[in-house]
Amino acid sequence: MKNFFILLAMKVLHIGLKIAGKNGGNFLGKIAYDWNPNIFKYFKINCPIIAVTATNGKTMTNNAIGYIFKTAGKKVISNTEGNNMETGILSTLLKHCSLTGKIKADYLVFEVDEGYVPVIFKDLKLDTLVILDFFRDQLDRNGEVESLILRINDFLKTYTGNLILNNDDPNVARLGQANPENHNIYYFSVEKYSHATTDMKEAGEGKFCPFCNTRIEYEYYQYSHIGKFKCPNCNYGDNEVYKMAKNIDLKNRTFTVDDVTYKIRFNSIYNIYNFTAVISCVSLYSIDTDIIQKALSTFILNNGRLEEIQVKNIPTIINLAKNPTGSNVSLRILNEDDDEKELLFVLNDNIADGRDVSWIWDINFDTLNNVSRIITSGTRAYDIAIRIKTAGFPVEKIEPYLDLHEAVEHFYQTNVKKYVIANYTSLQPTRNEILKLK
Ligand SMILES: [Zn+2]
Repeated sequence: MKNFFILLAMKVLHIGLKIAGKNGGNFLGKIAYDWNPNIFKYFKINCPIIAVTATNGKTMTNNAIGYIFKTAGKKVISNTEGNNMETGILSTLLKHCSLTGKIKADYLVFEVDEGYVPVIFKDLKLDTLVILDFFRDQLDRNGEVESLILRINDFLKTYTGNLILNNDDPNVARLGQANPENHNIYYFSVEKYSHATTDMKEAGEGKFCPFCNTRIEYEYYQYSHIGKFKCPNCNYGDNEVYKMAKNIDLKNRTFTVDDVTYKIRFNSIYNIYNFTAVISCVSLYSIDTDIIQKALSTFILNNGRLEEIQVKNIPTIINLAKNPTGSNVSLRILNEDDDEKELLFVLNDNIADGRDVSWIWDINFDTLNNVSRIITSGTRAYDIAIRIKTAGFPVEKIEPYLDLHEAVEHFYQTNVKKYVIANYTSLQPTRNEILKLK
């Protein structure tokens, strides 16, 4: 009875929010969860629940999976706006359920914060879990990456649903052994691409075998610690791969899986991994290849995640980067482009960003290909400027502005191609300032 009243109250509140023209974010979930943390049990869901978790790439992967299902004519409920903690998922469920907790859909697709997988899916039956990567991210919130992996590993010990794992991330592939009784493990991988290296260019995790502690050997690195690895002692890493992306062509934005060519709207190795995970996932639900092809060829994200726009006829590429790996991936894309370009880096240290910005020292600014000027902004405009200067970039070409509006104005005083990197809370304000000029 109590749950019925919570739902009734939330429905009324939701209508109120709608009338006020507000989306509410995770507000409904916050209140309902405070009332009853076991409320997840109350929902009656008769369709598969799919979740995507990772340090980086959750939103891209989650939204692409939902988009493919929708293209196939399915009804999908998803947290596409990225509210990915327990209260965010709960808000999404509350908005779409009946008063008896019934949810009508063909698929529920959620991106879930790495720390909240065990909390949310204690009481919701998960059909498929996709895990992309684990990097150091907001250490002060998540604790060390190792303790995070162990928490998910504990959850997986009794999990028997589909588990889709990145076979090229030693932090992720190890989770395939959490429950020997689970025979629904699917590894995905990406063939060596043209910019892969034999030594690690960027700070990364996963140097030692989690099973025998021997140093892991890499045949090559794609980016950070993602690559073809194997433990020379116990052969960890030598898994049978379910889906493998091949013929990676970042210039033409194509790759193949099972001899089918996919064209996408993104040009980074990092997204090839995301889309290989996407293809692995929807293939488990018998979605036709031509529908996947068609959907991926039109899928974009209009939220500053590798978003490409024209501002005053100047090509501008905006990307979110909330940790060293995200930043290094953005710089990798910038460095693979030979055109002259300018960079705007916006760094905030609000609570949602993590107050500790020392991770910027793990960003690889040492080689910047044809960058003629860097503007920095955000509450930590000077920290990031000093970081870039220390890496050897000429100081006269670095311009810090605490005021974001002023920074964007100066940024667009030239006609040179623009790259923008912004962290969590700075992304939308930066994007809005840029769009004002459009
Ligand atoms: Zn080993």
